Amino acid sequence: MIEIKFLGGASEVGRSCFLIDTGVEKFLLDYGLNVQGFTMPMQPPISLDAVLLSHAHLDHCGLIPELYKRGFQKSVFATKSTLDLTNLLLEDSIKIQTRKGMEPFYSDIDINTFVKRAKRVDFGQPIEFTKSVIELHDAGHIPGSAATLIDTGKKRLLYTGDLNYSENSLMKASEKNYSDIDTLIIESTYSYKNHPNRNKLANSLRETVKGALENGGTVLLPAFAVGRTQEILMLVYDLGFPVYMDGMGITATKIALKNLDFVSNPTKLKKAFGKAHKIGKTKDRQKVLDKPCIVIASAGMLQGGPIHHYIKKLKDERNCSLIMTGFQVEGTVGRTLLDTKKFVSNGSEFEVKMDIQFMDFSAHIGRDDLFKFIEQVNPQKVIPVHGEFIPEFIAELKDKGFETILAKNGDVIKI
Ligand SMILES: [Zn+2]
Ligand SMILES: [Zn+2]
Repeated sequence: MIEIKFLGGASEVGRSCFLIDTGVEKFLLDYGLNVQGFTMPMQPPISLDAVLLSHAHLDHCGLIPELYKRGFQKSVFATKSTLDLTNLLLEDSIKIQTRKGMEPFYSDIDINTFVKRAKRVDFGQPIEFTKSVIELHDAGHIPGSAATLIDTGKKRLLYTGDLNYSENSLMKASEKNYSDIDTLIIESTYSYKNHPNRNKLANSLRETVKGALENGGTVLLPAFAVGRTQEILMLVYDLGFPVYMDGMGITATKIALKNLDFVSNPTKLKKAFGKAHKIGKTKDRQKVLDKPCIVIASAGMLQGGPIHHYIKKLKDERNCSLIMTGFQVEGTVGRTLLDTKKFVSNGSEFEVKMDIQFMDFSAHIGRDDLFKFIEQVNPQKVIPVHGEFIPEFIAELKDKGFETILAKNGDVIKI
């Protein structure tokens, strides 16, 4: 029997954290932070045999150093990309927490302890514990992202982390060949919605960007540092106009280039990054907007980062465009700008006259593929998590004949 305790991220998106007790071992699947409200999941114990980290997004990795602060002695297992990217994001997260006037959840020392103790695993490489054998498999969501398979000899539990289904310009498709899965814990962010066809969307982004540039305008592409920056870069680098990169996306791309096994077209990523101008210092920004160009900069939801500098400079330019390529959470600077054409952040508020657009580039599996994935894995029980419409999704899964469990934060379930 396996006992699963849902500490966070069960009936919500954000702060994912699940405690697995096999009777012999205790594992923690992710320990994330809700980055909108900066809220923690329920606090896990530090008497754990291992932490299995699915990927480098703060809603999954954001609190891991907090375990070391409380005296956790063992290791976090993850892919090399995940470990390198997590380190980058955690350091940035301390800065954000400090800027917000918060007492950070952990210090640089705790991040260093995490890095020192971390163990790199490759996809499919078995990690052996007393009773269980654990494997990570490609989840296709962002560089390094993994689904975790726990096999106790009697039960096989699969936790998808965040998942994407099919290949795109950057990522290979997720692994789908799993056998004899008893219980599937699956993300369900988009259980209610399909995404537009990715190739069509990619072409439409290229066309829109090209049109604006030929019109004499500059195009700003705010993008999440990990994953989206690299994908967008690969889509626009060969349009015949200069491409500038600014912010954390540069380091994230360097990390991605050192770990190319997940990338669908490594040669193209190398070429695209080689051609792009990287803005390292503030003074380099002065010359960027002299003539029509493309700027890819963080942060993806405009919650800070160098993108602010470019928006402030171009706000009155009607022939310039700002294209958001990631989901904009309610209450973020990006969402407000998209809904009202007003930029509101840190005491400054102004109208933006640039052309503002949204394109639905998601790194998450869409509705139809979610059902397809579950049918392919064909588990005995499905536990949807990481979603806002889980009861509705469960009702649909039941109609299709699946046994399901509706888990809420705080619930303990035995399988
Ligand atoms: Zn994610
Ligand atoms: Zn997530």
